[in-house]
Amino acid sequence: SKYSKQDIINLVEDNGVKFIRLQFTDIFGALKNVAITDKQLQKALNNECMFDGSSIEGFVRIEESDMYLRPDLDSFVIFPWRPQQGKVARLICDVYSPDGTPFLGDPRNVLKDVIKEAEELGYTLNVGPECEFFLFETDDKGQPKLETQDQGGYFDLGPVDLGENARRDMSLMLEEMGFEIEASHHEVAPGQNEIDFKYSDALTTADNIMTFKLVVKAIAQRHGLYATFMPKPILGINGSGMHINMSLNKDGKNAFVDESDKLGLSETAYYFIAGLMKHIKAMAAITNPIVNSYKRLVAGYEAPVYIAWSAKNRSPLIRVPAARGAGTRIELRCPDPSANPYLTLACLLKAGLDGIKNKLQVPNSTEKNIFEMSEEERLELGIENLPSSLEEAINYMKQSELVKETLGTHIFNNYVKAKQLEWDQYRTQISQWEIDNYLKKY
Ligand code: ADP
Ligand code: MG
Ligand code: MG
Ligand code: MG
Ligand code: MG
Repeated sequence: SKYSKQDIINLVEDNGVKFIRLQFTDIFGALKNVAITDKQLQKALNNECMFDGSSIEGFVRIEESDMYLRPDLDSFVIFPWRPQQGKVARLICDVYSPDGTPFLGDPRNVLKDVIKEAEELGYTLNVGPECEFFLFETDDKGQPKLETQDQGGYFDLGPVDLGENARRDMSLMLEEMGFEIEASHHEVAPGQNEIDFKYSDALTTADNIMTFKLVVKAIAQRHGLYATFMPKPILGINGSGMHINMSLNKDGKNAFVDESDKLGLSETAYYFIAGLMKHIKAMAAITNPIVNSYKRLVAGYEAPVYIAWSAKNRSPLIRVPAARGAGTRIELRCPDPSANPYLTLACLLKAGLDGIKNKLQVPNSTEKNIFEMSEEERLELGIENLPSSLEEAINYMKQSELVKETLGTHIFNNYVKAKQLEWDQYRTQISQWEIDNYLKKY
C-alpha cells in the first residue's frame, strides 16, 4: 500500500490538517461522515473510532449498534477547496462489527468480497464511469430552481455555457486530489454536464465515484449553482446516466482482447456480456435504484430500454466501443448516478463472473436501431425490455439468487424492504399529471 500509519500522521502534521472525516457509504449510496480532530487521529488509525450504526438508515438493529471504522490509509486526501488554515482531510473506512468481523451491512465490504472471488479466478475488473449531472441555478436561500444556467448543447463552448467555470474548477480540484481527468464537456441537455476520469480497479473507482459526487456538489455551490445526480430532473430532455465501462485484466493483460475475433473480443468478453444480460433485470433495482431512474429509461433520450448489445450503434444496453488494444472494453449504459457504486460494481462483476464460470452464450448482437423496430420484430429477435418501474425491478431482484448471494441477506432484505416502501409511497401520491388530465374530465 501507498501510506503507512506514520505517513498519515506526518501528512496531517506537515499540512496543518485540523479535521479528518472518516467516511463510509450506506446501502442506499449516501456518503456518511464521522468527523474527528487531529488529536484523535492515533485512535482512528488504531481502528478504535466508533459510531452508532442504528442512527443510519438500513444499517443495523438497535441491539448491535456499535460499529468500528477501519480507515483505508491509501484513501487519505486533503480537500483542496476547504480553508488553508485548519485543513480538512478524509479517510475512507471499512465498517467492522464489535467482534472484529467485517460488518455485513457495509457496501464496501460487499464489493471487496466479489473482487476477491474474481482474483481467485485470476481476474481484476477495471472500471471507468461516465457520471452526468445537472447544474441548476439557485434562489436567495441556495435552493435549486430547476432552471438551467445555460442553453448549451453537446460539446458547446463559449458564452452560452456558464457552467463552464464551475466544470473547470471541478476538474482542477479533482486533479489536485489525484484524479486523472480524461474529458469534461457539456452534455446534450441544457445545464447538463459530464466529467470523465480514468478507469481504475473496481474498488478505487467506487471510492472515486463517491468522492466525485462530493466534489461536484461542493464546487457547484461555490459557483452559486446546485449540482444534482437525480437521473431525470426534467421532462422532455435527456436524463443523467452513469455509463459503466468495464474490462477484465488477467496476467497483466486485457482479457477482453482477441485479435483473431471479428470484433476483436475474447471468449471471456462474450461470456461477461452474456452474464450481464442474463442478470440485468435482477440488478436493475441496484443500477437504477429510485422511482425517478425509470423516467430516464424511456425511448427518445439516448437511454437504453431494451436488453441488447452492439458494436455498431449506441442505442442498446451494452455497447462495445470502437477502441481496441488496452482500451478494449464493454460499456453498460443503464446505470445512473443515483446508484450505490459499491453495490453496483459488486453485482456487475458477479454477473460477469457467472457468465465466465458457466460459459453463458451471448445472444446475437443487434445492429439495427431497436427503437425503430416493431414489437413483433423485437419478439422475433428475442429482445426483452428492461424493467419499466422500480416496482418491476424490485420484483425481479427478489427472485434473484445471484443478487442475494452478492449482497448477502442483511443488505438484500433491508434494501428490498426499503425500496418497496419507497415505491408504495410514490404509488399512492396524486400527481399534477392526474389532476391535469382527470379532474375536469370526470
Ligand atoms: P463514451 O465514448 O461512451 O462517451 P468516454 O470517453 O466518455 O466514453 O468514457 C470512457 C471511459 O472508459 C473512461 O472512464 C475511460 O477511462 C474508460 N476506459 C478506457 N479504457 C478502459 C478499459 N480498458 N477498461 C475499463 N474502462 C476503460
Ligand atoms: Mg462519455
Ligand atoms: Mg466520450
Ligand atoms: Mg454522456
Ligand atoms: Mg458512454
